[in-house]
Amino acid sequence: MHKIDLHIHYKRRKRDQDTFADEMCRAAKEKGLSAIAFTEHDQHLPPSELNRLAGEHSICVYQAMEVQCYSHDLLVYGETMPDVTGGDNERAASIAILREAGTLAVILAHPFRKGKPIRPEIAELSPDGIEVASCNTPPWAIPAILEFAKVHGSGLYVNSDAHKERRVGGHWNYCRELPQSNQDLVDWIRRRRVA
Ligand SMILES: [Zn+2]
Repeated sequence: MHKIDLHIHYKRRKRDQDTFADEMCRAAKEKGLSAIAFTEHDQHLPPSELNRLAGEHSICVYQAMEVQCYSHDLLVYGETMPDVTGGDNERAASIAILREAGTLAVILAHPFRKGKPIRPEIAELSPDGIEVASCNTPPWAIPAILEFAKVHGSGLYVNSDAHKERRVGGHWNYCRELPQSNQDLVDWIRRRRVA
């Protein structure tokens, strides 16, 4: 079994630092993770940099992004990232096009954070997955998250949402066989749908 964390940041909140992605990969490797996805807000590393990180740290690193949409954070995975230059409707439309093509998977990050309920626009999206646990998912929300997953067929994920090295390794998912590419990860997430 492999440990995989699909929600890790590569930028420090306060100050930027060029080597932070390397430090996060190192921390992940030390904690026994086999694979991670870098999910920065509205931006992603170029494929050449992801390949370098994977090679130097002997860990799978998938392309992903954390996209704010209708006041929620959506984690998106795939070879092609959606266009995030527009507002909520444009972002949702870009995500929908890639999902319909089968090249993007979506996980709803930390639902019910700060007590906010899931908005109908997000429910309509029927995310492929939902985070049932993370640094930012409130434990009291677990019953509601399980209910949402059942109704919308979303798979359940446990990710760290690490913004600091010490948070890496606190949460992960088990995976029998590691996805071998970004598209393989998309297919893996879509297969894990509950219904
Ligand atoms: Zn995050």
